[in-house]
Amino acid sequence: MYWKLESLKYLFDQNLAWAASVNEEDPEFFSRLSKQQAPKYLWIGCSDSRVPANQIVNLPPGEVFVHRNIANVVVHTDLNCLSVLQFAVEILKVEHIIICGHYGCGGIEAAMDVKEYGIMDGWLRHIKDVWRSNAEKFEGLQHHEKLNLLCELNVKAQVSNVGNTSIVQQAWKKGANLSIHGWIYNIRNGILQDLNTRRSAAD
Ligand SMILES: [Zn+2]
Repeated sequence: MYWKLESLKYLFDQNLAWAASVNEEDPEFFSRLSKQQAPKYLWIGCSDSRVPANQIVNLPPGEVFVHRNIANVVVHTDLNCLSVLQFAVEILKVEHIIICGHYGCGGIEAAMDVKEYGIMDGWLRHIKDVWRSNAEKFEGLQHHEKLNLLCELNVKAQVSNVGNTSIVQQAWKKGANLSIHGWIYNIRNGILQDLNTRRSAAD
């Protein structure tokens, strides 16, 4: 037990060092941020530890409102995700919603498998549906090409799902300056790519 506590102590040490370095660079940073948050971006990304929202776009705390789940899926019955979306759109009034997938996504790969994973299967079903509705695009492809394509198609499907929520539809009706973007991140080189699936009120 002792060694476990010791290993977690490392995280507290890291935290103290980080807070001190932020203070040194900008002594007002935490007091300014503690008053309110006004992020312009809602990031909906994968829970994968290699895809941390703020770090990828090199933004400090306070700049990105974040929701992450396995394979960055937006389901119309997911109260967690929809609550985040509603808060971001109606209270924070974010201007951009970014759905960010990533190549080599374990959740997407699991959805391509016939193996059963238990409680996760209900979640993966949404990704299987994306695969099924685009079946002809996968013909003749190698496994890794199929995986990459499904990672991209899944992002595009989620852009569509977000755009079809009553939250976003209502916001657009009220004239909100809000657009939705589909991006994909390459964990092999750290580079983000826009999948050109932008949606806004005018579309
Ligand atoms: Zn993933």
